Amino acid sequence: MAASAHSASQLLLAWYDAYARVLPWRSPPGAPPPDPYRVWLSEVMLQQTTVAAAIPYFERFTARWPTVGALAGANDGDVMAAWAGLGYYARARNLLACARAVTARGGQFPGTERELRELPGLGAYTAAAVAAIAFGEAATVVDANVERVVARLFAIDEPLPGGRAAIRRSAESLTPPDRPGDFAQAMMDLGATICATRNPRCLLCPLSDTCAAFAEGRAADYPVKTAKPVRPQIVGTAWWIEREGQVWLVRRPAKGMLGGMRALPSDEWSARGNGEGAAPLNGQWRDCGSLVHVFTHFSLTLSLRVYSGSDLASLSPADGEWWPLDRLDEAGLPTLFARAAQLALAGTGE
Ligand code: SF4
Repeated sequence: MAASAHSASQLLLAWYDAYARVLPWRSPPGAPPPDPYRVWLSEVMLQQTTVAAAIPYFERFTARWPTVGALAGANDGDVMAAWAGLGYYARARNLLACARAVTARGGQFPGTERELRELPGLGAYTAAAVAAIAFGEAATVVDANVERVVARLFAIDEPLPGGRAAIRRSAESLTPPDRPGDFAQAMMDLGATICATRNPRCLLCPLSDTCAAFAEGRAADYPVKTAKPVRPQIVGTAWWIEREGQVWLVRRPAKGMLGGMRALPSDEWSARGNGEGAAPLNGQWRDCGSLVHVFTHFSLTLSLRVYSGSDLASLSPADGEWWPLDRLDEAGLPTLFARAAQLALAGTGE
């Protein structure tokens, strides 16, 4: 870089003082740090969604469970339902496990990156973010936004994922000992608002004088990525069983995809076969279309079949529950099954 790492971090902090985004989990630049609970909760949510999508979830969670102790005492099903739509339901289970671990140690989050890593579900990124933002530790926070900014600032041309080590070393060289929390949030803001994936707005960037990619005129070429493997295609079937304004819902096994969530009955999704496993009832079924849902590691084509028989006697309360259709939005169905329910309701004329 043309300027030193020190001057780059000071330029960025000055920009942050003027342009920091106002977000419900943040303290303003230079103010005392925010509650670690709020930092941790927001960071877990932001790992899987955008800031705009996370804000209403964050507001609902903190209104209902304002402290880590309140969340630790929550009913598992209520938390899973409140999480519905955010995806990655294992994170919701880890969220509860972590809240309970913090409560078991007196209700205080530990104040260092190293100790935070020991809590259930707290990965390297979240531990560094909480340590820097809530506790002022000079931890280096590297998420996808920061990765992009740093790869460009230093024109790191080693392709990801192999290039991550070089990016981390460069990010560490930038992290200042004073105001590390504001610095981490400034990097996040720069990546989100200026150093965008496509069309970075270099002319508005406080770091353009120090940026190697800008000097090369190749900002959008970084970070360099290796070609992604093709996502596997999986097929499955879900079953819609309706009776007197109610639909039959089951609870998915605690372990595995969408574990512990309420769902429509479905078969074992698989890359093989035609997706037609054993239906939960014998009798008449009719096709009601299909939908494609893309998970991180595979793409699922889910066929929907609607029961048109009347023999419901073999459905046991031990296996599921009748849920009122007019309160379906309160069932906490994960997005896949909420979409399947819409398909069924459109097809059955509700
Ligand atoms: Fe990103 Fe452009 Fe700023 Fe470099 S100058 S950090 S590429 S926005």
